[in-house]
Amino acid sequence: MAKLLPKNKQRCPCPIHGCRSQRRRDQVMCAGHWFKVPRELRDEIWRLYRSEPGSAAHIAAIRDAIRSVNEQVAELAPTSPAA
Ligand SMILES: [Zn+2]
Repeated sequence: MAKLLPKNKQRCPCPIHGCRSQRRRDQVMCAGHWFKVPRELRDEIWRLYRSEPGSAAHIAAIRDAIRSVNEQVAELAPTSPAA
């Protein structure tokens, strides 16, 4: 399995709107949200992560994933404030 470098174990906030979970530095978002990313996009991000990490294509794919989950979160959010 993948070896984890110490820096990859650092925690940072999940980028999804309203999420208070933390992600590992080498992850795009928290595990709960990652599985809301469309499967093809997740596969694409993994492929780019392995082949060209940090490339423009990789970063663009990550942005697409974050936007996709943010849209899903927005759809699920109640239209009126919950009590
Ligand atoms: Zn999250």
